[in-house]
Amino acid sequence: AKAEGRNTLRFYSPEMDSISWNNISLEADLRKAIAQEQFELYYQPQIDLATGAIAGAEALLRWSRPEFGLTSPNVFIDIAEETGLINEIGTWVLTKACTQAATWQSLGHAPFRISVNLSPLQFLRQDIVQVVENTLEQTGLNPGSLELELTEGSLLKDVERTKQVLRSLKELGVRVAIDDFGVGFSSLSYLKNFPVDTLKIDRSFISSLLAGSRDEAIVRAIISLAQSLELKVVAEGVETNQQLACLLSLSCDEAQGYLFSRPVPSGIFESLLRDYPRY
Ligand code: C2E
Ligand code: CA
Ligand code: CA
Ligand code: CA
Repeated sequence: AKAEGRNTLRFYSPEMDSISWNNISLEADLRKAIAQEQFELYYQPQIDLATGAIAGAEALLRWSRPEFGLTSPNVFIDIAEETGLINEIGTWVLTKACTQAATWQSLGHAPFRISVNLSPLQFLRQDIVQVVENTLEQTGLNPGSLELELTEGSLLKDVERTKQVLRSLKELGVRVAIDDFGVGFSSLSYLKNFPVDTLKIDRSFISSLLAGSRDEAIVRAIISLAQSLELKVVAEGVETNQQLACLLSLSCDEAQGYLFSRPVPSGIFESLLRDYPRY
């Protein structure tokens, strides 16, 4: 039986075989996940460094995949993007996140901002502005409370179209952030070309941030650039008090990271909202 098995599989390396099988079953499971509502949003606070208050939250997608448990988007976003499933998932995320933010605002946690990640496919769909506008109408969230996070993958594709979409989003009153800022191939040209509101300094510049380090010089320059352009700066992946002290000395606007909280389910996030200082 063993020999036969080997014969039928002889055109594939066992590795290739298991990778493609994994992707096929991942895709099938993802389709079911949408129908069976296996997705959930976790929320990670973004801290205003001037006041110590929670300025907002980034919504981060989680999948309770049967037999695998809580699964990070790193595992499935690429497949969702390749198969187009991201459109449906992304619309669900947007609606859920805006609904949650509107609820928190109505409980008195204002001004409260929600940040939502958009994938390149989602951002480049023809009707993205309409989707965002409909979501705001449906959920009653004030447009200025929504920030969309875009990565290089979205910004690189088609400069003219990107400019146009960003202008329309700005007209709606929605905020736009460049995610993972600094690691892209043309970070500076994004600032030249696109009307954005926020830079999120990539975690790779924060993880070994120390006074006097090269990373400190880079982060200082990004913050000063952002200030000149009147953009908000958020430092991502802040894990230590040393990093925080450094960011405070550089007058960084906001910080996000495990030092404050991991991404948590909405119920736990609500207790953070109660415990943190208010504006
Ligand atoms: P991202 O947008 O850069 O999100 C930040 C990631 O860093 C999150 O991983 C977060 O849990 C993690 N993180 C936050 N603070 C720290 C820290 O102090 N230290 C370390 N080591 N990590 C930290 P997560 O939740 O696994 O998400 C991974 C990526 O998946 C995100 O990276 C984003 O690109 C994508 N993603 C997440 N949710 C969505 C979504 O709803 N839609 C789309 N299109 N992409 C999403
Ligand atoms: Ca993000
Ligand atoms: Ca990021
Ligand atoms: Ca990232």
